Formats: sequence, structure tokens, C-alpha cells
Amino acid sequence: EKDPVRVLVTGAAGQIGYALVPMIARGIMLGPDQPVILHMLDIPPAAEALNGVKMELVDAAFPLLKGVVATTDVVEACTGVNIAVMVGGFPRKEGMERKDVMSKNVSIYKAQASALEKYAAANCKVLVVANPANTNALILKEFAPSIPEKNITCLTRLDHNRALGQISERLNVQVSDVKNVIIWGNHSSSQYPDVNHATAVGKPVRELVKDDEWLNGEFITTVQQRGAAIIKARKFSSALSAASSACDHIRDWVIGTPEGTWVSMGVYSDGSYNVPAGLIYSFPVTCKNGEWTIVQGLPIDEFSRKKMDATAEELSEEKALAYSCLS
Ligand code: NDP
Repeated sequence: EKDPVRVLVTGAAGQIGYALVPMIARGIMLGPDQPVILHMLDIPPAAEALNGVKMELVDAAFPLLKGVVATTDVVEACTGVNIAVMVGGFPRKEGMERKDVMSKNVSIYKAQASALEKYAAANCKVLVVANPANTNALILKEFAPSIPEKNITCLTRLDHNRALGQISERLNVQVSDVKNVIIWGNHSSSQYPDVNHATAVGKPVRELVKDDEWLNGEFITTVQQRGAAIIKARKFSSALSAASSACDHIRDWVIGTPEGTWVSMGVYSDGSYNVPAGLIYSFPVTCKNGEWTIVQGLPIDEFSRKKMDATAEELSEEKALAYSCLS
């Protein structure tokens, strides 16, 4: 039997956490033969609820689950973890200024970065889910300088999967037959869902859909605003789909993407596609041997360029705002 992998979930008593931990314990994130030890962190007001989640994990008797650490202590939570899924964050409350939310999250991510830096296993892989996800990941990178920058990512896989879902519904084909959509940029409504290189049953999506107006309009806004549509329908934000896509993100990163398929991940920009270096920006990536690589050489038309630049611009502004919260 393989040695267990320690997986940290922060904000584990929250909605996404509640959907995510059983998926991890069932092997959906790391595979059906990979034992796991779950480290769950939450804040003191959520300690009792967190303990309830731990009780349910015990009750579910997951064969792969070799241990559970449920704690409000950041150091205990981060110690020895191989994978960290950062779901905890300060939610935007009504009447709060953008800067106030940013400042709360900057201080959370600064503290958690320092704990991961000191106590996580070498080569720990980090996925930030909590919003503003890209910028939280950037702060984490800044304050965990010994963690390789390639190990710090943010979640745009939900947006990617939403785009696959929309195309599959429109063309009435299986979602597993649609691939290579791209989410560029920020995990926010400025993201650019791009189908220019996507295929369905092996043919270009644009040729099959035959409706550029829809692809350049309603398709994009539907993906961008899907989160709000879920809140409207469910009265709570998306949780099962967010949890499932977090598993997809880590699984593909660790196990690899299938030949000829790429996925979207928020990663540290090296300047590819003229995206400013030093932002955490969502790119198309392939993964092999536990490492992602940005897909290179895709032709970018003028429509795409504008949208890619606009979302980069928003990220640069967020970065400046985050840094202003540090001083
Ligand atoms: P959720 O579990 O619903 O969401 C957690 C985070 O994920 C939020 O920041 C949310 O952003 C973000 N997110 C990113 N993508 C998505 C998506 N597609 N759909 C929904 N959410 C998305 O929030 P809960 O409030 O239920 O749980 C949060 C937990 O974090 C609580 O248990 C709380 O105690 C903990 N917490 C921890 C803090 C800390 O570590 N210091 C501080 C505050 C809370 P958005 O807000 O934009 O929806």
C-alpha cells in the first residue's frame, strides 16, 4: 500500500469544504489507491462545526482515510502537508469596500503562507480557491518564498468545466467529448472563456456551433456569471461543482493531463502570451510528472487579445490594491 498523502483543506467547515472533504477521502482527488490523511483548518467560531465534519468523516468509514486532523491552529494544520487546498477566506459582506475585503484576505494569506513555508512538506502543492483567488495566491507566493512558485496555483477549473458544460449542452454532445476550452485571466467576471482552439467530437467548436454571435456574446457572459446564477437559484454559492473542480485541478496536476488535452489553471505568469510576468493568471496548461507547463504558440486574434488584456489589467489593479494593504 502507498504511504498516505497529507491534504490540508482550510475553511473546511464551510460549504465547499463540506463537499470537498468526502471527495478527497473517497479518492476522487488523488486516485482510488492513494490513502490520505486530512488536515482540516477553520477559525475558532467554526470549531464546533468542524468537529461535526470530523465526526461524519469517521462515521463514513472511508477505507482510504488514514487519519483526520481537525484544528483551529494554523501550525498544526500545515505541518507535513503535501497538498494544501485553501478554501477559507473572508467573504465579501454587504456594504464592505473592496479594499476592506482585500485587506482581510491579505492578512489571512500572509499568515497561512508563513505557516506553510515553515511547516509544510517539501514540494507541497498549493491550490487557492478562496476569492480573490488569483491575488490570494500571489500573496501566498510572496510570503512563502521557499515554496517553488510553480507549486502555487489558483482555481479556474470550475470556470473551465462550466465552459465545457455550456458547449456540451449547446451541441448536444457528451461533455467528455468536448475539450481544450481556455479560461484566461482572473477568476472573476473579467475572465475570458475562449473556444477558439476547442473541439467537440474531434471537430472545431466554432465550426460545429456555427454561431459566432453566441460564442462571442452569450456563451462568454453565461460562463462569467454562472456563479451568480447558482446563488440566485440555490440561495447559496456553488459548492459541489467548486469542490469537484478542485479535485480535477489537483488530480490532473499530480497524475497528468491526457495526451492532446489541456486544462485551465491559475499559475504564475512568465510573460507567455504577453501577459505581464508576476501575476497569477489563468492559462491553458498540460501537466506531466507533477508539473504544469503553459501551452505555447496558440494564435491569438484581436478579439481575444483585448479580453486577455482587460482581465490582466484587473489583476494588476488587484495586485496593487493587495500591496497597498501590506504597507
Ligand atoms: P464557501 O465554502 O462557499 O466558499 C469559500 C471560498 O471559496 C469563498 O472565498 C468563495 O468566494 C470562494 N470561491 C471561489 N470560487 C467559488 C465558486 N465558484 N463558488 C463558490 N465559492 C467560491 O464559503 P463558506 O462561507 O461556507 O466557508 C468559508 C469557511 O472559511 C468558513 O468555514 C469560515 O469559518 C472560514 N473562514 C476562514 C478564515 C480564515 O482562515 N482566517 C476567515 C473567514 C472564514 P466568495 O466569497 O467570493 O463566494
